[in-house]
Amino acid sequence: MVLLPIKCPVCNGTDVTEHGNTSNGKQRFIGKDQTCEGKTFIQDYSDKGRLPETKHQIIEMTLNGSGIRDTARVLGIGPVTVINELKKRTRSTRSESQFFSNPRA
Ligand SMILES: [Zn+2]
Repeated sequence: MVLLPIKCPVCNGTDVTEHGNTSNGKQRFIGKDQTCEGKTFIQDYSDKGRLPETKHQIIEMTLNGSGIRDTARVLGIGPVTVINELKKRTRSTRSESQFFSNPRA
């Protein structure tokens, strides 16, 4: 098991402490640095692209006609993450051309 250091997304400080859970069961943290402007945050906040719900939203938005850049901006992730996820998802389906024929993507 690898424990990644938990960092405050605002000041990048690692002096953080647990601060209850979010409504969807995620561990919430709060920075202990008194000078930091940041409040509570969720550990995987900066790595949204790996969350199952983000992956789900990528597919949903694409099916609803959003381009890759739109999807990335709305979800707060990189376009590469969107493209990689779509490639993964479309590999086993026959709708691949549908995903990549969007001129706005
Ligand atoms: Zn901070």
